[in-house]
Amino acid sequence: MLARTWSVGLAGVTGTPVEVEVDNAQGLPGIALVGLPDAVVRQSLDRVRAALGNVGHALPQRKFTIGLSPASMPKQGSGFDMAIAVGLLAACQVVPRTGLDDLVFLGELGLDGSVRAVRGVLPAVLAASRTGRTRVVVARANADEASLVPGVEVLAVGELAEVLAHLAGRVRVAPHRRRPRGPPAPGPALSDVVGQATGRRALEVAAAGGHHLFLSGPPGAGKTMLAERLPGLLPALADDLATEVTAIASVAGTLPPGAPLITRPPFEAPHHSATAVSLVGGGSGQIRPGALSRAHAGVLFLDEAPEFPRAVLDTLRQPLERGTVTIHRAHGSATFPCRSQLVLAANPCPCASPAGDASCTCGSVERRRYAARLSGPLLDRVDLRVQLPPVTRAGWLDGRTTPESTAAVATRVEQARAAAADRLAGTGLRTTAEVPGRLLRERWPVPRGALQLAERALERGALSVRGLDRVIRVSWTIADLAGRAVPGADEVAEALGLRLTGAAA
Ligand SMILES: [Zn+2]
Repeated sequence: MLARTWSVGLAGVTGTPVEVEVDNAQGLPGIALVGLPDAVVRQSLDRVRAALGNVGHALPQRKFTIGLSPASMPKQGSGFDMAIAVGLLAACQVVPRTGLDDLVFLGELGLDGSVRAVRGVLPAVLAASRTGRTRVVVARANADEASLVPGVEVLAVGELAEVLAHLAGRVRVAPHRRRPRGPPAPGPALSDVVGQATGRRALEVAAAGGHHLFLSGPPGAGKTMLAERLPGLLPALADDLATEVTAIASVAGTLPPGAPLITRPPFEAPHHSATAVSLVGGGSGQIRPGALSRAHAGVLFLDEAPEFPRAVLDTLRQPLERGTVTIHRAHGSATFPCRSQLVLAANPCPCASPAGDASCTCGSVERRRYAARLSGPLLDRVDLRVQLPPVTRAGWLDGRTTPESTAAVATRVEQARAAAADRLAGTGLRTTAEVPGRLLRERWPVPRGALQLAERALERGALSVRGLDRVIRVSWTIADLAGRAVPGADEVAEALGLRLTGAAA
Protein backbone atom coordinates (compact mmCIF):
# COMPACT_ATOMS: atom_id res chain seq x y z
CA MET A 1 0.00 0.00 0.00
CA LEU A 2 1.52 3.32 -1.11
CA ALA A 3 0.46 6.79 0.09
CA ARG A 4 1.62 10.27 -0.83
CA THR A 5 1.61 13.59 1.02
CA TRP A 6 3.26 16.95 0.42
CA SER A 7 5.44 19.28 2.41
CA VAL A 8 8.06 21.92 1.51
CA GLY A 9 11.84 21.82 1.97
CA LEU A 10 13.81 25.03 2.41
CA ALA A 11 17.33 26.01 1.40
CA GLY A 12 17.83 29.49 2.78
CA VAL A 13 14.65 31.30 1.83
CA THR A 14 14.02 29.21 -1.27
CA GLY A 15 11.36 26.55 -0.91
CA THR A 16 10.89 23.38 -2.96
CA PRO A 17 7.80 21.15 -2.68
CA VAL A 18 8.77 17.79 -1.23
CA GLU A 19 6.77 14.67 -1.93
CA VAL A 20 6.56 12.23 0.99
CA GLU A 21 5.93 8.70 -0.25
CA VAL A 22 5.11 6.02 2.29
CA ASP A 23 5.19 2.36 1.41
CA ASN A 24 3.60 -0.14 3.78
CA ALA A 25 4.73 -3.70 3.08
CA GLN A 26 5.18 -7.09 4.69
CA GLY A 27 8.67 -7.77 5.99
CA LEU A 28 10.93 -7.06 8.90
CA PRO A 29 9.05 -4.47 11.02
CA GLY A 30 10.62 -1.03 11.02
CA ILE A 31 10.75 2.35 9.29
CA ALA A 32 13.36 3.37 6.75
CA LEU A 33 13.70 7.00 5.69
CA VAL A 34 15.42 7.82 2.39
CA GLY A 35 16.04 11.05 0.46
CA LEU A 36 18.87 13.01 2.13
CA PRO A 37 17.29 13.71 5.52
CA ASP A 38 19.44 15.59 8.06
CA ALA A 39 19.71 14.50 11.70
CA VAL A 40 16.60 16.46 12.70
CA VAL A 41 14.50 14.94 9.91
CA ARG A 42 15.76 11.47 10.91
CA GLN A 43 14.65 12.09 14.49
CA SER A 44 11.28 12.88 13.00
CA LEU A 45 10.58 9.14 12.89
CA ASP A 46 10.81 8.86 16.68
CA ARG A 47 8.59 11.90 17.21
CA VAL A 48 6.02 10.70 14.67
CA ARG A 49 5.94 7.16 16.10
CA ALA A 50 5.37 8.48 19.63
CA ALA A 51 2.78 11.03 18.48
CA LEU A 52 0.82 8.41 16.55
CA GLY A 53 0.87 6.07 19.55
CA ASN A 54 -0.39 8.85 21.80
CA VAL A 55 -3.33 9.70 19.54
CA GLY A 56 -4.37 6.05 19.46
CA HIS A 57 -2.87 5.03 16.13
CA ALA A 58 0.22 3.01 17.04
CA LEU A 59 1.88 1.71 13.88
CA PRO A 60 1.35 -1.97 13.07
CA GLN A 61 4.34 -4.35 12.93
CA ARG A 62 5.01 -3.77 9.24
CA LYS A 63 7.87 -2.66 7.07
CA PHE A 64 7.50 1.04 6.23
CA THR A 65 9.67 2.88 3.72
CA ILE A 66 9.44 6.64 3.53
CA GLY A 67 10.93 8.45 0.53
CA LEU A 68 11.42 12.22 0.41
CA SER A 69 11.77 13.57 -3.11
CA PRO A 70 13.37 15.29 -4.94
CA ALA A 71 15.90 12.87 -3.48
CA SER A 72 18.92 15.00 -4.38
CA MET A 73 17.75 17.95 -2.30
CA PRO A 74 19.02 17.94 1.31
CA LYS A 75 16.11 18.07 3.77
CA GLN A 76 16.52 20.15 6.92
CA GLY A 77 14.46 20.74 10.02
CA SER A 78 11.39 19.35 11.71
CA GLY A 79 8.72 20.69 9.35
CA PHE A 80 8.15 17.32 7.63
CA ASP A 81 6.73 15.62 10.75
CA MET A 82 3.08 16.23 9.97
CA ALA A 83 3.39 15.14 6.32
CA ILE A 84 5.18 11.94 7.40
CA ALA A 85 2.59 11.15 10.08
CA VAL A 86 -0.35 11.67 7.71
CA GLY A 87 1.46 9.65 5.03
CA LEU A 88 1.97 6.74 7.44
CA LEU A 89 -1.70 6.78 8.45
CA ALA A 90 -2.83 6.97 4.83
CA ALA A 91 -0.59 4.00 4.02
CA CYS A 92 -2.34 2.15 6.89
CA GLN A 93 -5.74 3.25 5.57
CA VAL A 94 -6.53 5.15 8.77
CA VAL A 95 -7.24 8.24 6.67
CA PRO A 96 -8.35 8.24 3.04
CA ARG A 97 -5.58 8.60 0.46
CA THR A 98 -7.76 10.64 -1.85
CA GLY A 99 -7.73 14.37 -1.28
CA LEU A 100 -4.20 14.39 0.12
CA ASP A 101 -2.71 15.54 -3.14
CA ASP A 102 -3.85 19.16 -2.92
CA LEU A 103 -2.81 19.64 0.72
CA VAL A 104 0.61 20.77 1.95
CA PHE A 105 1.58 19.91 5.54
CA LEU A 106 4.02 22.14 7.43
CA GLY A 107 4.50 21.38 11.10
CA GLU A 108 6.47 19.64 13.79
CA LEU A 109 4.82 17.10 16.05
CA GLY A 110 5.12 16.96 19.82
CA LEU A 111 5.33 13.51 21.37
CA ASP A 112 1.79 14.07 22.69
CA GLY A 113 0.45 14.60 19.17
CA SER A 114 0.36 18.39 19.28
CA VAL A 115 1.23 20.30 16.12
CA ARG A 116 4.00 22.82 16.66
CA ALA A 117 5.05 25.92 14.76
CA VAL A 118 8.13 25.81 12.54
CA ARG A 119 10.40 28.48 11.11
CA GLY A 120 10.23 29.45 7.44
CA VAL A 121 6.49 29.02 6.90
CA LEU A 122 6.19 32.11 4.67
CA PRO A 123 8.81 31.01 2.11
CA ALA A 124 7.43 27.45 2.28
CA VAL A 125 3.87 28.55 1.54
CA LEU A 126 5.15 30.83 -1.23
CA ALA A 127 6.86 27.84 -2.85
CA ALA A 128 3.71 25.73 -2.49
CA SER A 129 1.57 28.46 -4.04
CA ARG A 130 3.99 28.98 -6.92
CA THR A 131 3.67 25.30 -7.84
CA GLY A 132 -0.11 25.47 -7.74
CA ARG A 133 -0.66 24.01 -4.26
CA THR A 134 -3.01 26.40 -2.55
CA ARG A 135 -4.19 24.56 0.57
CA VAL A 136 -1.81 24.31 3.52
CA VAL A 137 -2.12 22.79 6.97
CA VAL A 138 -0.04 24.56 9.65
CA ALA A 139 0.18 24.99 13.41
CA ARG A 140 -2.06 27.73 14.83
CA ALA A 141 0.94 29.89 15.71
CA ASN A 142 1.97 29.82 12.04
CA ALA A 143 -1.49 30.58 10.62
CA ASP A 144 -1.18 34.37 10.34
CA GLU A 145 2.19 34.00 8.67
CA ALA A 146 0.92 31.41 6.17
CA SER A 147 -1.99 33.75 5.38
CA LEU A 148 0.43 36.41 4.15
CA VAL A 149 0.49 34.55 0.83
CA PRO A 150 -2.50 35.66 -1.24
CA GLY A 151 -4.83 33.03 -2.68
CA VAL A 152 -3.85 30.29 -0.23
CA GLU A 153 -6.35 28.51 2.02
CA VAL A 154 -4.80 28.03 5.45
CA LEU A 155 -6.03 25.28 7.78
CA ALA A 156 -4.75 25.96 11.30
CA VAL A 157 -4.56 23.04 13.71
CA GLY A 158 -3.36 22.45 17.24
CA GLU A 159 -3.40 18.65 17.34
CA LEU A 160 -2.69 15.83 14.96
CA ALA A 161 -6.11 14.43 15.96
CA GLU A 162 -7.78 17.48 14.37
CA VAL A 163 -5.97 16.81 11.10
CA LEU A 164 -7.07 13.19 11.13
CA ALA A 165 -10.69 14.11 11.92
CA HIS A 166 -10.67 16.64 9.11
CA LEU A 167 -9.19 14.18 6.61
CA ALA A 168 -11.64 11.48 7.65
CA GLY A 169 -14.46 13.95 7.08
CA ARG A 170 -15.66 13.86 10.70
CA VAL A 171 -14.85 17.51 11.45
CA ARG A 172 -14.25 20.38 9.07
CA VAL A 173 -11.36 22.69 9.97
CA ALA A 174 -12.45 26.14 8.79
CA PRO A 175 -9.99 28.20 6.74
CA HIS A 176 -8.02 30.65 8.91
CA ARG A 177 -8.90 34.33 8.63
CA ARG A 178 -6.05 36.72 9.22
CA ARG A 179 -6.79 39.57 11.59
CA PRO A 180 -6.33 43.01 10.04
CA ARG A 181 -3.26 44.83 11.27
CA GLY A 182 -2.47 48.50 11.76
CA PRO A 183 0.53 50.29 10.30
CA PRO A 184 3.94 49.53 11.83
CA ALA A 185 5.04 51.63 14.80
CA PRO A 186 7.24 54.55 13.78
CA GLY A 187 10.96 54.21 14.46
CA PRO A 188 12.98 56.67 16.58
CA ALA A 189 12.58 60.30 15.47
CA LEU A 190 15.36 62.25 13.80
CA SER A 191 14.28 65.37 15.68
CA ASP A 192 15.61 63.71 18.89
CA VAL A 193 19.14 64.33 17.61
CA VAL A 194 20.10 67.77 18.86
CA GLY A 195 22.98 69.40 17.05
CA GLN A 196 25.15 67.15 14.88
CA ALA A 197 24.30 68.99 11.66
CA THR A 198 27.10 67.13 9.87
CA GLY A 199 25.93 63.76 11.16
CA ARG A 200 22.34 64.44 10.18
CA ARG A 201 23.35 65.61 6.73
CA ALA A 202 25.57 62.55 6.21
CA LEU A 203 22.65 60.35 7.22
CA GLU A 204 20.39 62.06 4.68
CA VAL A 205 22.96 61.65 1.89
CA ALA A 206 23.52 58.00 2.88
CA ALA A 207 19.77 57.35 2.75
CA ALA A 208 19.34 59.11 -0.60
CA GLY A 209 22.19 57.36 -2.40
CA GLY A 210 22.28 54.04 -0.54
CA HIS A 211 25.87 54.83 0.49
CA HIS A 212 27.64 52.97 3.28
CA LEU A 213 28.53 55.34 6.11
CA PHE A 214 31.40 55.61 8.57
CA LEU A 215 30.87 57.73 11.68
CA SER A 216 33.90 58.59 13.77
CA GLY A 217 33.54 60.48 17.01
CA PRO A 218 33.97 60.40 20.77
CA PRO A 219 31.59 58.43 22.99
CA GLY A 220 28.33 60.29 23.48
CA ALA A 221 28.57 62.12 20.15
CA GLY A 222 25.38 60.38 19.02
CA LYS A 223 26.76 57.80 16.58
CA THR A 224 24.31 55.10 17.67
CA MET A 225 21.39 57.55 17.79
CA LEU A 226 22.12 58.60 14.22
CA ALA A 227 22.55 55.05 12.91
CA GLU A 228 19.26 53.93 14.48
CA ARG A 229 17.47 56.71 12.61
CA LEU A 230 18.70 55.74 9.15
CA PRO A 231 15.96 53.10 8.48
CA GLY A 232 13.33 55.79 9.15
CA LEU A 233 14.73 57.88 6.30
CA LEU A 234 14.60 55.02 3.81
CA PRO A 235 11.49 54.46 1.69
CA ALA A 236 9.00 51.76 2.76
CA LEU A 237 9.80 48.34 1.29
CA ALA A 238 8.19 47.50 -2.03
CA ASP A 239 6.01 44.36 -1.97
CA ASP A 240 8.67 41.96 -3.24
CA LEU A 241 11.27 43.27 -0.79
CA ALA A 242 8.79 43.21 2.09
CA THR A 243 8.14 39.54 1.34
CA GLU A 244 11.87 38.77 1.16
CA VAL A 245 12.60 40.56 4.43
CA THR A 246 9.68 38.84 6.17
CA ALA A 247 10.77 35.45 4.82
CA ILE A 248 14.29 35.99 6.21
CA ALA A 249 12.87 36.91 9.63
CA SER A 250 10.69 33.80 9.47
CA VAL A 251 13.64 31.49 8.79
CA ALA A 252 15.69 33.33 11.43
CA GLY A 253 12.88 32.85 13.95
CA THR A 254 12.70 36.59 14.64
CA LEU A 255 9.31 37.34 13.07
CA PRO A 256 7.23 39.13 15.73
CA PRO A 257 4.05 37.46 17.07
CA GLY A 258 1.09 37.93 14.75
CA ALA A 259 3.50 37.69 11.81
CA PRO A 260 3.15 41.13 10.31
CA LEU A 261 4.45 41.67 6.81
CA ILE A 262 7.62 43.67 7.46
CA THR A 263 7.23 46.84 5.42
CA ARG A 264 9.91 49.02 7.03
CA PRO A 265 13.66 48.52 6.39
CA PRO A 266 15.13 46.44 9.23
CA PHE A 267 17.95 47.53 11.56
CA GLU A 268 20.51 45.09 12.93
CA ALA A 269 23.27 45.98 15.37
CA PRO A 270 25.42 42.93 16.21
CA HIS A 271 27.90 43.32 19.06
CA HIS A 272 31.63 43.24 18.24
CA SER A 273 31.95 39.96 20.12
CA ALA A 274 29.54 38.36 17.59
CA THR A 275 30.86 35.27 15.81
CA ALA A 276 31.19 35.05 12.05
CA VAL A 277 28.25 32.60 12.08
CA SER A 278 25.94 35.02 13.86
CA LEU A 279 26.97 37.76 11.47
CA VAL A 280 26.96 35.89 8.18
CA GLY A 281 24.69 32.91 8.94
CA GLY A 282 24.95 29.19 9.68
CA GLY A 283 24.24 27.18 12.80
CA SER A 284 23.20 23.59 13.31
CA GLY A 285 19.99 22.11 11.93
CA GLN A 286 18.19 24.42 9.52
CA ILE A 287 20.72 27.03 8.34
CA ARG A 288 19.84 30.41 9.82
CA PRO A 289 20.52 33.80 8.28
CA GLY A 290 22.99 36.03 10.12
CA ALA A 291 22.66 39.70 11.06
CA LEU A 292 23.92 40.62 7.58
CA SER A 293 20.87 39.00 5.94
CA ARG A 294 18.46 40.01 8.65
CA ALA A 295 19.48 43.56 7.69
CA HIS A 296 18.57 42.87 4.04
CA ALA A 297 17.02 45.99 2.48
CA GLY A 298 17.80 47.78 5.73
CA VAL A 299 20.74 48.82 7.86
CA LEU A 300 23.60 46.80 9.37
CA PHE A 301 25.19 48.86 12.14
CA LEU A 302 28.61 47.89 13.46
CA ASP A 303 29.29 49.97 16.55
CA GLU A 304 32.90 50.13 17.74
CA ALA A 305 33.80 48.68 14.37
CA PRO A 306 37.59 48.50 15.02
CA GLU A 307 36.84 46.06 17.86
CA PHE A 308 35.39 43.50 15.41
CA PRO A 309 37.99 40.87 14.48
CA ARG A 310 39.49 41.71 11.11
CA ALA A 311 38.63 38.26 9.75
CA VAL A 312 34.97 38.77 10.65
CA LEU A 313 34.86 42.17 8.92
CA ASP A 314 36.54 40.74 5.84
CA THR A 315 33.87 38.05 5.48
CA LEU A 316 31.28 40.81 5.04
CA ARG A 317 32.83 42.45 2.01
CA GLN A 318 32.00 40.00 -0.77
CA PRO A 319 28.40 39.34 0.30
CA LEU A 320 27.80 43.10 0.57
CA GLU A 321 29.09 43.54 -2.97
CA ARG A 322 27.16 40.61 -4.43
CA GLY A 323 23.97 41.20 -2.46
CA THR A 324 23.74 37.53 -1.49
CA VAL A 325 25.51 35.27 0.95
CA THR A 326 25.84 31.51 0.53
CA ILE A 327 26.53 29.32 3.54
CA HIS A 328 28.02 25.91 2.79
CA ARG A 329 27.83 23.13 5.27
CA ALA A 330 28.33 19.39 5.21
CA HIS A 331 24.57 18.96 4.90
CA GLY A 332 23.64 21.23 2.01
CA SER A 333 23.97 24.95 1.52
CA ALA A 334 21.73 27.98 1.77
CA THR A 335 21.70 31.33 0.01
CA PHE A 336 20.20 34.44 1.60
CA PRO A 337 19.85 37.92 0.14
CA CYS A 338 21.88 40.61 1.99
CA ARG A 339 21.58 43.91 0.18
CA SER A 340 22.06 45.93 3.32
CA GLN A 341 23.44 49.35 3.98
CA LEU A 342 26.43 49.40 6.27
CA VAL A 343 26.98 51.94 9.03
CA LEU A 344 30.32 51.68 10.83
CA ALA A 345 31.02 53.66 13.98
CA ALA A 346 34.31 54.12 15.79
CA ASN A 347 35.78 56.06 18.65
CA PRO A 348 38.82 58.11 17.70
CA CYS A 349 41.04 56.15 20.11
CA PRO A 350 41.08 52.77 21.85
CA CYS A 351 40.46 54.11 25.37
CA ALA A 352 37.15 55.63 24.26
CA SER A 353 37.23 58.57 26.64
CA PRO A 354 35.33 61.72 25.70
CA ALA A 355 37.32 64.05 23.47
CA GLY A 356 39.42 66.51 25.43
CA ASP A 357 39.09 64.33 28.53
CA ALA A 358 42.30 64.42 30.53
CA SER A 359 42.11 60.67 31.19
CA CYS A 360 42.98 59.89 27.56
CA THR A 361 46.66 59.31 27.09
CA CYS A 362 46.43 57.77 23.62
CA GLY A 363 49.14 59.21 21.40
CA SER A 364 48.78 60.03 17.74
CA VAL A 365 50.46 56.76 16.76
CA GLU A 366 47.98 54.78 18.83
CA ARG A 367 45.08 56.71 17.35
CA ARG A 368 46.32 56.12 13.82
CA ARG A 369 46.84 52.44 14.52
CA TYR A 370 43.33 52.16 15.92
CA ALA A 371 41.79 53.82 12.85
CA ALA A 372 43.92 51.63 10.57
CA ARG A 373 42.27 48.50 11.99
CA LEU A 374 39.31 49.43 9.83
CA SER A 375 41.17 50.18 6.64
CA GLY A 376 41.19 47.69 3.84
CA PRO A 377 38.66 46.21 1.46
CA LEU A 378 35.58 46.79 3.62
CA LEU A 379 36.22 50.48 4.31
CA ASP A 380 37.02 50.85 0.62
CA ARG A 381 33.33 50.36 -0.08
CA VAL A 382 32.30 53.13 2.30
CA ASP A 383 31.54 56.33 0.40
CA LEU A 384 30.75 58.60 3.35
CA ARG A 385 33.20 59.13 6.23
CA VAL A 386 32.29 61.69 8.78
CA GLN A 387 33.99 63.01 11.90
CA LEU A 388 31.44 63.96 14.56
CA PRO A 389 32.44 66.67 17.02
CA PRO A 390 31.84 66.15 20.76
CA VAL A 391 28.16 66.73 21.42
CA THR A 392 28.56 69.69 23.76
CA ARG A 393 30.28 71.86 21.22
CA ALA A 394 28.09 70.64 18.39
CA GLY A 395 25.00 71.32 20.44
CA TRP A 396 26.11 74.84 21.12
CA LEU A 397 26.99 75.43 17.49
CA ASP A 398 23.89 74.14 15.80
CA GLY A 399 21.41 73.13 18.46
CA ARG A 400 19.74 76.52 18.41
CA THR A 401 17.33 75.73 15.58
CA THR A 402 14.61 73.08 15.79
CA PRO A 403 15.94 69.92 14.10
CA GLU A 404 14.05 68.67 11.06
CA SER A 405 11.64 65.77 11.47
CA THR A 406 12.17 62.28 10.06
CA ALA A 407 9.24 62.83 7.66
CA ALA A 408 10.68 66.06 6.21
CA VAL A 409 14.05 64.45 5.47
CA ALA A 410 12.45 61.20 4.24
CA THR A 411 10.48 63.20 1.64
CA ARG A 412 13.70 64.70 0.23
CA VAL A 413 15.31 61.25 0.27
CA GLU A 414 12.39 59.80 -1.68
CA GLN A 415 12.64 62.53 -4.34
CA ALA A 416 16.40 62.05 -4.63
CA ARG A 417 15.98 58.28 -4.96
CA ALA A 418 13.42 58.80 -7.73
CA ALA A 419 15.87 61.07 -9.59
CA ALA A 420 18.65 58.47 -9.23
CA ALA A 421 16.31 55.70 -10.40
CA ASP A 422 15.48 57.73 -13.55
CA ARG A 423 19.16 58.17 -14.32
CA LEU A 424 19.98 54.52 -13.67
CA ALA A 425 16.98 53.14 -15.59
CA GLY A 426 18.00 50.17 -17.72
CA THR A 427 21.29 49.53 -15.91
CA GLY A 428 19.87 47.12 -13.33
CA LEU A 429 21.32 49.37 -10.60
CA ARG A 430 19.00 50.90 -8.03
CA THR A 431 21.11 53.38 -6.11
CA THR A 432 24.04 55.65 -6.87
CA ALA A 433 26.17 53.76 -4.35
CA GLU A 434 25.99 50.65 -6.55
CA VAL A 435 27.45 52.37 -9.64
CA PRO A 436 30.99 51.12 -10.34
CA GLY A 437 33.59 53.91 -10.57
CA ARG A 438 34.41 53.31 -14.22
CA LEU A 439 30.79 53.27 -15.37
CA LEU A 440 30.25 56.45 -13.39
CA ARG A 441 33.12 58.29 -15.10
CA GLU A 442 32.23 57.11 -18.60
CA ARG A 443 28.48 57.35 -18.57
CA TRP A 444 27.82 60.26 -16.22
CA PRO A 445 30.84 62.56 -16.36
CA VAL A 446 30.82 65.51 -13.96
CA PRO A 447 31.66 68.82 -15.74
CA ARG A 448 35.41 69.39 -15.52
CA GLY A 449 35.06 72.80 -13.88
CA ALA A 450 33.01 71.37 -11.04
CA LEU A 451 35.73 68.90 -10.17
CA GLN A 452 38.59 71.37 -9.66
CA LEU A 453 38.57 71.12 -5.88
CA ALA A 454 38.62 67.32 -5.95
CA GLU A 455 41.37 67.24 -8.55
CA ARG A 456 43.52 69.50 -6.40
CA ALA A 457 43.02 67.12 -3.47
CA LEU A 458 44.09 64.30 -5.78
CA GLU A 459 47.26 66.17 -6.78
CA ARG A 460 48.11 66.92 -3.15
CA GLY A 461 47.75 63.24 -2.38
CA ALA A 462 44.88 63.98 0.00
CA LEU A 463 42.60 61.84 -2.15
CA SER A 464 43.19 58.52 -3.89
CA VAL A 465 41.78 57.65 -7.32
CA ARG A 466 39.23 55.37 -5.65
CA GLY A 467 38.53 58.17 -3.23
CA LEU A 468 37.81 60.45 -6.16
CA ASP A 469 35.25 57.95 -7.48
CA ARG A 470 33.56 57.97 -4.10
CA VAL A 471 33.48 61.78 -4.04
CA ILE A 472 31.89 61.79 -7.50
CA ARG A 473 29.27 59.24 -6.44
CA VAL A 474 28.37 61.28 -3.38
CA SER A 475 28.24 64.49 -5.50
CA TRP A 476 25.59 62.89 -7.67
CA THR A 477 23.50 62.02 -4.63
CA ILE A 478 23.84 65.55 -3.27
CA ALA A 479 22.76 66.88 -6.68
CA ASP A 480 19.75 64.51 -6.59
CA LEU A 481 18.84 65.89 -3.16
CA ALA A 482 19.14 69.45 -4.43
CA GLY A 483 17.06 68.69 -7.53
CA ARG A 484 19.99 69.46 -9.85
CA ALA A 485 20.50 67.56 -13.10
CA VAL A 486 24.31 67.43 -12.77
CA PRO A 487 26.63 68.05 -9.79
CA GLY A 488 28.27 71.46 -9.71
CA ALA A 489 31.24 72.79 -7.72
CA ASP A 490 29.06 73.15 -4.59
CA GLU A 491 27.99 69.52 -4.64
CA VAL A 492 31.56 68.34 -5.17
CA ALA A 493 32.78 70.56 -2.33
CA GLU A 494 30.18 69.16 0.04
CA ALA A 495 31.00 65.60 -1.03
CA LEU A 496 34.67 66.28 -0.27
CA GLY A 497 33.64 67.60 3.13
CA LEU A 498 31.72 64.41 3.81
CA ARG A 499 34.77 62.32 3.17
CA LEU A 500 37.94 64.11 4.17
CA THR A 501 36.92 65.01 7.68
CA GLY A 502 36.98 61.36 8.69
CA ALA A 503 40.02 59.83 10.35
CA ALA A 504 40.56 57.31 7.55
CA ALA A 505 40.25 59.32 4.33
ZN1 LIG B 1 42.31 57.61 24.29
